Amino acid sequence: MGQIDGFMKFPRKGAPLRPVEVRRYDYQELYQDHSDEELGIQGARCMDCAIPYCQTDTGCPVDNLIPEWNNLVYIGQWHEALERLHETNNFPEFTGWLCPAPCESACTLDLVEDAPVTIKNIERQIIERGFQEDWVHPLSPEPATGFRVAVVGSGPAGLAAAQQLARWGHEVVVFEKNDRIGGLLRYGIPDFKMAKFRVDRRLEQMEAEGVQFQTGVDVGRDVTADELRGQYDAVILAGGAEKPRDHEVPGRDLAGIHFAMPYLVQQNRLNAGDFLGPNEQRITAEGKNVLVLGGGDTGADCVGTAIRQGAASIRQLNIHPEPPHERSDQTPWPEWPYKRMDSAAHDEGCERLWRLYVKSFTGDNSGHVAQANCITVKSAQRRPDGTRELIEEPGGDVDLDVELVLIAIGFAGPYSDPLLEDLGVTPDERGNATADPGTRMTNVEGVFSSGDMYRGASLIVWAIHDGRQAAEGAHRYLMRERVQRSIREVAD
Ligand SMILES: Cc1cc2nc3c(=O)[nH]c(=O)nc-3n(C[C@H](O)[C@H](O)[C@H](O)COP(=O)(O)OP(=O)(O)OC[C@H]3O[C@@H](n4cnc5c(N)ncnc54)[C@H](O)[C@@H]3O)c2cc1C
Ligand code: SF4
Repeated sequence: MGQIDGFMKFPRKGAPLRPVEVRRYDYQELYQDHSDEELGIQGARCMDCAIPYCQTDTGCPVDNLIPEWNNLVYIGQWHEALERLHETNNFPEFTGWLCPAPCESACTLDLVEDAPVTIKNIERQIIERGFQEDWVHPLSPEPATGFRVAVVGSGPAGLAAAQQLARWGHEVVVFEKNDRIGGLLRYGIPDFKMAKFRVDRRLEQMEAEGVQFQTGVDVGRDVTADELRGQYDAVILAGGAEKPRDHEVPGRDLAGIHFAMPYLVQQNRLNAGDFLGPNEQRITAEGKNVLVLGGGDTGADCVGTAIRQGAASIRQLNIHPEPPHERSDQTPWPEWPYKRMDSAAHDEGCERLWRLYVKSFTGDNSGHVAQANCITVKSAQRRPDGTRELIEEPGGDVDLDVELVLIAIGFAGPYSDPLLEDLGVTPDERGNATADPGTRMTNVEGVFSSGDMYRGASLIVWAIHDGRQAAEGAHRYLMRERVQRSIREVAD
């Protein structure tokens, strides 16, 4: 372990952020590095707990070997720390830059000191050091099995599954309907949270390990379910949960009201050097009063993007009451805490409004949105069918002047396409591809489900976990097939 009394001697120091006055004008990443010495000190705060809650299911979904690499960084054995990191996580940089770190809220030091070990930042700096030192190389796959696996979707779930399966000797093809690989890591998550070259360098590694990528292929349309089953021995479904929840109130069809994703994706594309399509409208916050509906990650990413585009003002509206600033008693340690969480984007200039619900939008003479007409809600319980039962507070009407509205109130399920139906996969009530929680096999033999398409919109770390689980399920299935084929051959 680090130092037995490290947590008493050294204060928690998270990753330094670039100053607001600088970062709000560019799309460069937010975090900076600690010196090796400071990071070692942060590692020394780890107590190597008898039960490391950081590592349990409540903490880290991929079971990262956290106390081990905390100590290795403390004693300066970075290469060994990197090896431990890669044992449980294919892409520690994606989680190191982007994870909300449930491991930290489950860390014992969050219970006693409210100052957990800076696990996420230690992870980020280990893997970035690994790339800088050229320690991250393609791994030689095991001997070819002769089996072919199709992976549908190239987000973190599909990529993790593909890398595992290729390393076990299967021929793997990843299909992606977009023009670039990466899922939400590429199109959705803003560049200021993680630069896209970090995805590209992993793709290079995966290509060198034998993974094939096909972009611009919408599976279910460009390749039918029958073709897929005919050409591949197993299929991993990793298509995400892209269908946005709408806010269907009077005035919703006014100009200037958009879903969050087209807005975020357009800015990703422009940052990548693409141009607007001939009929594509630029969605920009420049000079506008912006209203973001929804208080989650996607909403915060809209706030950060609108700031960088030069919005006149930004308000983020939440239907729920403001959470407490400290962990609520309803979510005791080591659970994920119910408390107010502000992201870096909120510090850059955003007013957060609570308990407000937009009951209608009104427009100007040109048909453009001009006002959001809100009520104050006493409570807003969700019914089983997804709708909300609103109880209004009398006299709580508020009208907000707006020129751009971004709807970021969650995702209802997978992108609607004929694939699941044509494959015969049983969906749940939201359209997710249900599967056995152990093997991740769906009701269709040889078809596996993972990531947001399996569990609904979630986190990158869960997508990586699910991708690895589905890969393992598919690998076991294929190996069983091989034994059965051999038995049949001997019998014949
Ligand atoms: C704006 C935003 C910000 C987020 N920020 C964070 C964050 O900071 N930290 C965090 O942990 N999580 C974050 N999340 C959640 C996280 O990105 C997702 O949970 C994760 O990406 C899910 O991974 P996935 O591989 O299951 O799906 P996705 O990343 O959604 O990838 C699915 C891919 O499948 C493709 N696809 C779908 N259907 C087909 C088909 N029929 N044929 C071919 N391709 C298909 C899609 O085009 C897509 O590229 C964020 C989500 C959003 C929307
Ligand atoms: S719970 Fe915190 S202190 Fe304990 S082993 Fe994990 S990181 Fe270290």
